Amino acid sequence: MGIRLRIALVVAGLQAKEYYETAADRRFQALERRRLRTTARAGMLIVILVAVFGGSILSVVHPAAPGLIVGLDSVLALTAAAAYWLLGRQLRHHPEPLVFVVASAVVFACVALGLLVPELAVLAAGYLLLIPVVVSQVVTWRTFTHTLWLVLYVVAVMGFLVLAQVVDLSQPEKIDIAVLAMISIVVSFCGHVLGIRARIRDYRQLGMIQGLHRNIERQAVLLKRQAADLTGALAALERTSRVDPLTRIANRLRLDEDFEVVRARINRTGETCGLLEADLDRFKAVNDQLGHLAGDAVLRSVAQALQGALRAGDHVYRYGGEEFIIFIAGADAEATQAAAERLRAAVEALAIAHPDPQLGRVTVSIGGTVIGPADIDATDGALFDRADRAMYAAKTNGRNQVAIELPGWYGLPPAGAALVAADGTA
Ligand code: GH3
Ligand code: MG
Ligand code: MG
Repeated sequence: MGIRLRIALVVAGLQAKEYYETAADRRFQALERRRLRTTARAGMLIVILVAVFGGSILSVVHPAAPGLIVGLDSVLALTAAAAYWLLGRQLRHHPEPLVFVVASAVVFACVALGLLVPELAVLAAGYLLLIPVVVSQVVTWRTFTHTLWLVLYVVAVMGFLVLAQVVDLSQPEKIDIAVLAMISIVVSFCGHVLGIRARIRDYRQLGMIQGLHRNIERQAVLLKRQAADLTGALAALERTSRVDPLTRIANRLRLDEDFEVVRARINRTGETCGLLEADLDRFKAVNDQLGHLAGDAVLRSVAQALQGALRAGDHVYRYGGEEFIIFIAGADAEATQAAAERLRAAVEALAIAHPDPQLGRVTVSIGGTVIGPADIDATDGALFDRADRAMYAAKTNGRNQVAIELPGWYGLPPAGAALVAADGTA
């Protein structure tokens, strides 16, 4: 890498836009003020300690002017203590001017010590040369304030060297002090710039991490909401996939699922259950003469009538085109017969005109059977066939009626039931 390129990089680094932007950022400034307040209070304690111990030791080691030394250090310690106190109270939001005053007071105390106690001139010069470096490391104020303070420092050092005519310092010593002071100023400024740049970089990285964090949180909330929506949609889909779209009653899928539950309960409890199959009478004629839409409307009305005539715990399903399956929970032959009759009457009571003059109104033929624990080995199909045979028997018998086919295991046929044999004859 060429030297020019390297210089260009350094310049670009120093001029980086984001450094200026961040330095002008109000939140960053507030953070810096808070930081300065904390570090400044620690700095004040250091000044107090150095002033007290330094003053005590100096006044013993150099008994030339103990009163002056103690006086100077006391003023310094009191100034720092006052600043410490104010930093926690009235001036807590303006730490910079306060720190400026104390840092300047330290400089002028050193100058005064060097000028007023000639034998301490070299020691004072040493202190003076150290101060800018210490300030750049401890005080986290703005570059403007730091520069202003360095200007004041230059004035103080120059004043010291000029007025030091009266002090026992040789010309080469003064030149050495001037050179060292320049080095100290450069080091101080560089230290300050590096410090503030490091803080800006940390602030920006923290901001970026916080931004990422916020983003992740937002995404998580979004994902959660989407998952909830999806769960809702899935539940709705599950519901609708088990509902017949035309009649809005349960469909065959639901029937298959529920039949499993019904059979499990029968096997578990030993109770019996009524199984009915209802089929609209001469429904083809309704479609043929009144149209398919009218046929659909009839199907809807019949489905609702069947549903409405059921007791709690009983269920109706659309099995096929114009056929419905009904479970009568816990019913024996008699209860099954009664429920079937009630359903048949409910459809007839709709009094929907049928184009077939022989029927006059829309009716259903219902075949029923009873299923019980003895059917444990029978297939679902065999059980539905039993109800289907009974339904065809009802058709053969003249329609708009109920027929029950009882299985071989069933004890006594219920009184009044229209019984059919296993071969389907009445
Ligand atoms: P039966 O008394 O012997 O049962 O005579 P049916 O005319 O009812 O019997 P069939 O099985 O010959 O006719 C059933 C009719 O049901 C045929 C079909 O057009 C009609 N169908 C089946 N599903 C629907 C449907 O979803 N909407 C309409 N409008 N009609 C349907
Ligand atoms: Mg049919
Ligand atoms: Mg029919």
